[in-house]
Amino acid sequence: MRYILTEKQKQRYSRQIISPEIGEEGQERISELKILQIGCGGLGSPFSLYLTAAGIKELTIIDNDILDISNLQRQILYNESQIGKDKVNSAKEVLSKLNSEVQINVFKDFIDETSIKKYLKEKNYDFIVDCSDNFKTKFLVNKIAIKNNLRCVIAGIKDFYGQVITINPKKTACYQCVFSEPIGTSSEEGPLPVIGVTPGILGTIEALEVIKTALGLPNLENKILMVNLIDLRFNIIQIVKNDNCICST
Ligand SMILES: [Zn+2]
Repeated sequence: MRYILTEKQKQRYSRQIISPEIGEEGQERISELKILQIGCGGLGSPFSLYLTAAGIKELTIIDNDILDISNLQRQILYNESQIGKDKVNSAKEVLSKLNSEVQINVFKDFIDETSIKKYLKEKNYDFIVDCSDNFKTKFLVNKIAIKNNLRCVIAGIKDFYGQVITINPKKTACYQCVFSEPIGTSSEEGPLPVIGVTPGILGTIEALEVIKTALGLPNLENKILMVNLIDLRFNIIQIVKNDNCICST
């Protein structure tokens, strides 16, 4: 059944509805999106803000962290009054105020191959999106996406650099086709250097990828976007599906 926009929604989203690439039909599609977001820090802040503002149906966020003062330099969803509190609850507070029509579900939890099952069971998500800060989780999100046939966007950042990839399971190359799984755990990586703008830009591109993929517009499937913010270079590299990868079996 076709989703019908209310008059209030038509007014609220009027500036994107008048885009020839979106229109009312595109907004109807956006208004039906259910997204599962893993991690709510530097990438997750702009990602969740833009998708909530764009008027998706439902955003489910899983994150296990407590807000620290050193997070505020890049995690723009939060403010000083939320230091020491669970990020997911603070995120829900801010996002619900931004757009009360979007259903925001939050869970303070770590994800692994077992724990993710309970979050996937009840909902029919359109996308799973990695907004985590470590390789281990990115490989896990990729695996979950392939196993559950969920569209997926994964981004990574360090210092002034980042990459983004969009995956359509079984059809396009996946994260593991491009990167080899690292040995060791995320805690061994230690804090990485980062200028706040880097996750700001890359998390925003993740939100853009979700919207464009949902609308059938050109996206980063079978491509990887490499961002170098020192020289302001954005390069797209074509990638190919690896026949020996987990996504091909
Ligand atoms: Zn693959």
